[in-house]
Amino acid sequence: MTNKFVKPGDTIGILGGGQLGRMMAVAAKHMGYRIAVLDPTEDCPCAQVADVHIQAAYDNVEAAEQLSDASNVITYEFENVDLEVARIFEEAGKLPQGAYPLEVTRNRAEEKQIAVDASLPIADYSIVQTFDQLTTALESIGFPAVMKTISGGYDGKGQYKFETEEDVDGARSFMKDSETYIVEQWLAFDVEISQVFTRSQDGEISYFPIAENIHRQQILHETRVPATVTENVVKKAQQAVAVLSEKMNIVGTFAVEMFVKDEQVFINEMAPRPHNSGHYTIEACNVSQFEQHVRAICGLPLLPVHSFPAAVMINVLGKHRDILLDRLANYHGLHFHDYGKKDSRAIRKMGHITFVGNNLEEIDETIAKNNIHMW
Ligand code: ADP
Ligand code: MG
Repeated sequence: MTNKFVKPGDTIGILGGGQLGRMMAVAAKHMGYRIAVLDPTEDCPCAQVADVHIQAAYDNVEAAEQLSDASNVITYEFENVDLEVARIFEEAGKLPQGAYPLEVTRNRAEEKQIAVDASLPIADYSIVQTFDQLTTALESIGFPAVMKTISGGYDGKGQYKFETEEDVDGARSFMKDSETYIVEQWLAFDVEISQVFTRSQDGEISYFPIAENIHRQQILHETRVPATVTENVVKKAQQAVAVLSEKMNIVGTFAVEMFVKDEQVFINEMAPRPHNSGHYTIEACNVSQFEQHVRAICGLPLLPVHSFPAAVMINVLGKHRDILLDRLANYHGLHFHDYGKKDSRAIRKMGHITFVGNNLEEIDETIAKNNIHMW
């Protein structure tokens, strides 16, 4: 595809109206773009800041055509986009990201395969459909292990962990007849990191600082920058990302989640869009992952990335939100984001907070003073 230039004043269509769409829209707005969003939920996070909300199901082809007519360029904010719909946009020449990265990242088997093809290290894995196949797979993979639905999972949803052989029987009721699963060796990693980056339509890559991610119950809890990894690991991670992004011809912001063990970098998961572990870039960098994404899909040159020496981002889940909002006036030194979600659930991502500073010790002190770790 030739470089598609979209001018401020034109409309960016966003498929999906969650927090990522909302933060993309906010970044696009300050550059003067208009926003149309397709999402089935009334008053969804992105609709609250968009010019046009087409309220319909993601696989509604008529609604997709309406979005296409209303938009000069289209982007997606999540990977479970209907492929038919993505192809309609691609054929109309309006989807610089393309449908292919979606195809790969929405299916864990294809995602692993692309890493294998690129000779990048990954945890041992096997694809299974039946309980018998699972027990055979576990014989070679060993324990601990984790089983994940092949598609549709996020924030640890659709995952089943095997600490020991005793957990195997419980998988019988977890497994559904027509589902396919991936079983993976559970890696005892030293650190978990992610590389969020943006690739332009000309193939230029700009990297954000590598983030260290701390998960609780398989949901991202905290992102810390700089990550506690060596220069050697940073180099390996960026080389891996460059290979993967070329293979998929990535355009826009993209994230690769990785495990680091004994200086080795294992690919875990990829996201063809801005990523939760890149939210810190809003306050800690001169250009956020969202602004850089908008620049890429609109055919603007990427900005060189400069950043604060340190940042910490903590997710605000439903179970934290009310306490946090009530006490907000007592907290110092934190940036607060609320996604405007109406339906608050205990482990749903409702917002996030970010601290920036000269070093992580200083930030940890600020966090301690605020008594933020109450949860
Ligand atoms: P999703 O983010 O789609 O829910 P992930 O595969 O990224 O799925 O799993 C969520 C988290 O669970 C990971 O970030 C990591 O902390 C942990 N995890 C998943 N798979 C493994 C594994 N094979 N070894 C160690 N930890 C894992
Ligand atoms: Mg993940």
